[in-house]
Amino acid sequence: MISRTWVEIDLSALRHNLTVIKERLKGKKLLAVVKADAYGHGLEGLVPVLDQYIDFWGVASLDEALKIKNDKPIVILSPILQPEVTPVVENDFIPTVSSIEIVRALSKEAQKLHKVVNIFVEVDTGMRRTGVPAENAIEFINDVEDIPNVKIMSIFTHLATASLPEGGPKVLQQVRDFRNLLKRLRNSYMVHVANSAGWLRFPETYEEFDLVRIGILIYGLSPFDHSPTIPVRPILEWKTRIVDIRWVDKGMGVSYDHMFVAPCRMKLATLSVGYGDGYPRSLSNRGYVMIHGKRAPIVGRVCMDLTIVDVTNIPDVKIGDEVTLVGHGITMEEVAKLADTVNYEVATRISTRVPRIYLEK
Ligand SMILES: *Cc1c(COP(=O)(O)O)cnc(C)c1O
Repeated sequence: MISRTWVEIDLSALRHNLTVIKERLKGKKLLAVVKADAYGHGLEGLVPVLDQYIDFWGVASLDEALKIKNDKPIVILSPILQPEVTPVVENDFIPTVSSIEIVRALSKEAQKLHKVVNIFVEVDTGMRRTGVPAENAIEFINDVEDIPNVKIMSIFTHLATASLPEGGPKVLQQVRDFRNLLKRLRNSYMVHVANSAGWLRFPETYEEFDLVRIGILIYGLSPFDHSPTIPVRPILEWKTRIVDIRWVDKGMGVSYDHMFVAPCRMKLATLSVGYGDGYPRSLSNRGYVMIHGKRAPIVGRVCMDLTIVDVTNIPDVKIGDEVTLVGHGITMEEVAKLADTVNYEVATRISTRVPRIYLEK
């Protein structure tokens, strides 16, 4: 297959990352967060490898859960809606709940199908996004315990500030509030708090709990604005090809709006990638790519399908040459910084028109 732009996924790097993570888990269970098509990496090709290391899959929605063809339990981490109750029960997915109406609907459906539906209960201790507010959690959990054919498999909370350098005190407060709540429950459950950043920085977020929910680290990316503190490595390289080369003279405008005007005679290469592929338009006039191991700065606006770079100082550049957008010489974190966002967003935005190719390097 000839691609204009493509993503290469290194499955041996994925295995390496999972080994590095597992070695440090101290026996805790691993819920692999694979929402948003495995953070843009293309879940389908990763499933057989991940399956050998993990205990649970974590996705954001019913649609994502339906795409995983695997026997391990699948947890839907975001709230489900009423019309999704039937397929969730039919497929034995594990919904995260924070609404008693949804629990009742799950119960009704489970009774009809002669099933027991396992659920995760999220408690909000500070994220203020989803979950039962901590002050109502005991009552909620006790109510759920009385509802037939529904079984609380797990109770968790999600950290708001674990990536933030000064976020420590709030993380520890969330952990304390969560633990106080658990002490007041009649039963014991599988309980968890940590995401990647929490797990790397705060033993308090997992040492006394049963499981960690790890996303970004699996892909070898960092939850911080510095490198991860364990030796994971990126599994993704994003590449494209040169489709046009031209010289422009001093004073000539380049690309839409002539945002860039050549300060001297320059050699430009046009790349077969644009914001339609998820390449951030905010890299216009400020990003760079790697060609023949050298940096080529982006000039002018990133277009929908094409991007123009300065190759004046790179010898022997030809049409058809391979270009690295993310990979050797330029990390996802660097691209994110230049695009004014985070690596999570750059990765998840790589569009479906970019094929993912899985390699054993
Ligand atoms: C996305 C998500 C995670 C994973 O976060 P990372 O920073 O990628 O490790 C964990 N828990 C919940 C509830 C999430 O939504």
